[in-house]
Amino acid sequence: MADPTASAAPTASAVLPTYARADVAFERGDGCWLEATNGQRYLDFGAGIAVCCLGHNHPHLVDALIEQGRKLWHVSNLFRIPQAERLATRLVEASFADFVFFTNSGAEALEGAIKTARKYHAAAGHPERFHLITFEGAFHGRTLATIAAGGNPKYIEGFGPKAAGFDQVPFDDIEAVKAAITSETAGILVEPIQGEGGIRVPSPTFLRQLRALCDEHGILLVLDEVQSGMGRTGKLFAHELVGVTPDIVATAKGIGGGFPLGAFLTTRKAGSGMGIGTHGTTYGGNPLAMACGNAVMDVLMAPGFLEGVARKGLVLKQRLAALADAHPKIIADVRGEGMMLGLRTHVPNTDFAVAARAEQMLVIPAGDNVVRLLPPLVADEAEFSEAISRLEKACQKLEADLAAKG
Ligand SMILES: *Cc1c(COP(=O)(O)O)cnc(C)c1O
Repeated sequence: MADPTASAAPTASAVLPTYARADVAFERGDGCWLEATNGQRYLDFGAGIAVCCLGHNHPHLVDALIEQGRKLWHVSNLFRIPQAERLATRLVEASFADFVFFTNSGAEALEGAIKTARKYHAAAGHPERFHLITFEGAFHGRTLATIAAGGNPKYIEGFGPKAAGFDQVPFDDIEAVKAAITSETAGILVEPIQGEGGIRVPSPTFLRQLRALCDEHGILLVLDEVQSGMGRTGKLFAHELVGVTPDIVATAKGIGGGFPLGAFLTTRKAGSGMGIGTHGTTYGGNPLAMACGNAVMDVLMAPGFLEGVARKGLVLKQRLAALADAHPKIIADVRGEGMMLGLRTHVPNTDFAVAARAEQMLVIPAGDNVVRLLPPLVADEAEFSEAISRLEKACQKLEADLAAKG
């Protein structure tokens, strides 16, 4: 028998308690709005951590899911999947890449990207070149390889030996990268904008310098665009903002609009080691996921959509800068590109997120004491006004708390 007092606690749950969850649950959503089980409406500027790029309950996405759901969900990758071939072709046509491999998550996309980079050198007769240079503050996922790549001791400790082959240096420090390159280096793995690390945008020349270093040493530039990709910054991929061509890119989050989906993209050359039998997945790229991915692409690639994200992102950033000016005790700075924005706060970022939630607005804490604003890419200026007014109230509340403390 279950202990009745346990079930009385608000957080009692059979879900393994690896998350400190907010005690709120949502029942339905529409665009940028979520309705909680208690009937309260929340303005969602987290979008399920940059996943729900078309917002909630987008009619085109819902129709695509239902239509495919009535036909066929899954067949396995033992057979051709026309919907996957179509989405791969569309991603290739819109990007640097020649090939796409579909996964179910961001971490799996990273695993595939890391394996592809290592195999490239192994197939060229250099299996010893398996190290990737990675960066402090990075986040690449929670598998054994991706926690080693991310390098955060909190995620690594207690899970056995750290996977070999990840050499970490400070972010945005080109000299440190140069010093870390050895005859065992396969490539450089970097987020064009660090997401979990706190919307950290490197200096505009950083990625270009990494590209030049890769060319000089015959190593691969591998980008983690799980969070920054799929239109988030106003470009399909954030590396386009600085005119850099990568060799391999991992993406996920927005790509399925809420359906679990990821992908890695590669040039023909960088992917040359990945022949038949080298990699696989049971679910990745199944017809149901591909219906969602293609529906997301329909919207992202519609004429003017990404330009709209860039334009709206600038408007939101300017309005946040004005908010920061009005509340210098609360907000330290505004950062980010497109609709991947962050506020570094003077108060603990978790307090800021709680104060915003009290105003029925969702934002997401990140590293560097930043709260992220990752609204659905379909958010409009009326929703920005609503967001600013709720954040204004949250700032006033936090100022009152500071004053009360003396
Ligand atoms: C979220 C994220 C991941 C991991 O994606 P999962 O789907 O949680 O495995 C990897 N890299 C970056 C940059 C991310 O933001």
